[in-house]
Amino acid sequence: MIPDWILSILEDGRNLFGLGGPEWDVHVKMTDKPGGNAAAGGWALVNSKYLDADIELSVDLDNNRTGRAAILHEVLHVALHETDDMVDDIIEQLDEDRQEYFHTAYTKAMERTIQRISRSMEQFIYMKKEVEDDSHETPE
Ligand SMILES: [Zn+2]
Repeated sequence: MIPDWILSILEDGRNLFGLGGPEWDVHVKMTDKPGGNAAAGGWALVNSKYLDADIELSVDLDNNRTGRAAILHEVLHVALHETDDMVDDIIEQLDEDRQEYFHTAYTKAMERTIQRISRSMEQFIYMKKEVEDDSHETPE
């Protein structure tokens, strides 16, 4: 069972990052070990050829800035996966002794980028929503 607040953020993320249509099949599962790692907030396995993704989210996520950003983080991995595939194809063309270096450098840059965007998107979306929600409570 996926909590409603998580479903709502997944939908926001999909719409925001261009995965809102029916093309993408995104399956979500709650677990105590996303991708087999108890310390991870989430994990995504993406097949961009068949537009199919499995996202695993930690049952420990809370509806706070960190938790919401962790969910957006995984949705961003899905959204940017075509770039991962392309870079992997390019890396395969390199000499074997250079492949690991470039793979590590790319992964590090991509994780930082995704982390930065998911945190700022979280702030942007949910600060705005809080302001909207507050305005409904104010009698006119
Ligand atoms: Zn990541």
